Amino acid sequence: MLNGLEEKVNFSANLNYNLLLCYISFMDLNFNRKLAIGYKSGSQISRVVTEDWVEHNMFCPICGARILNHYEANKPVADFFCDECKSDFELKSKESKNANIGNKITDGAYATMIDRITSLKNPHLFVMTYYNWAVNNLLIIPNYFFVPDIIEKRQPLKETARRAGWIGCNIEIGKIPDSGKIFIIKNSQQEDKFKVIDLYQRTLTLQTKRIENRGWLLDVLKCVERIPTDNFKLDDVYVFAKELKRKHPDNNYVHDKIRQQLQYLRDKGFIKFTSRGHYQKI
Ligand SMILES: [Zn+2]
Repeated sequence: MLNGLEEKVNFSANLNYNLLLCYISFMDLNFNRKLAIGYKSGSQISRVVTEDWVEHNMFCPICGARILNHYEANKPVADFFCDECKSDFELKSKESKNANIGNKITDGAYATMIDRITSLKNPHLFVMTYYNWAVNNLLIIPNYFFVPDIIEKRQPLKETARRAGWIGCNIEIGKIPDSGKIFIIKNSQQEDKFKVIDLYQRTLTLQTKRIENRGWLLDVLKCVERIPTDNFKLDDVYVFAKELKRKHPDNNYVHDKIRQQLQYLRDKGFIKFTSRGHYQKI
């Protein structure tokens, strides 16, 4: 009799535990509309509801910690941090009816952005698109995918503006290799949490200490991704030599540099050398 009862209690405890796990891994994609009450400006409403959503739904895509913490408002370094792995995150969001991320995302001051990137101190970036009070895309771009080349300088604000002369920037996310855009939610579908963490871990090898090295590595990776087939030849990458020369005008040995970067990409597990001058994407 007692054993039966114990079994029942254990079964119920396990069930609750499993239900709890299901609950933890399930994200509610809807924003809390009540938070918009009292705000008039669209951009303020957007900031309040999207930041609230991240705070209540987002895990740390780097270490898997269950929650992210919100920095106090207007903290210049970032919007969120993970208490466990100490990573910082910035959130940029925009409305998009057809869940189109686009190629550019508006960010803050140009000079601050360049300074953060060159000193390797920029936070990881969350890019969110939403429509009708719900998230339809969320992706993370690890901070080591940022190079000055992807930061576009905007026109200074006009004389008549409150902050006349201020120069903002756009992040040209279209220039970032696909490996650096890790989806957490794609077209309103949540990706598996462990897949997200795995994909992040895979890109860790692309971290470099010097910003110049980072530029070359990411540029060649982006070229490799643009080759439509998985198997490719050295000549298929040399096609991009002129374009790479324009980006790195000081380098007179672009072909050598390409071969060197392909070796790095092989060592970092992004491509395989199949035979002399022949490669395969992994
Ligand atoms: Zn973490």
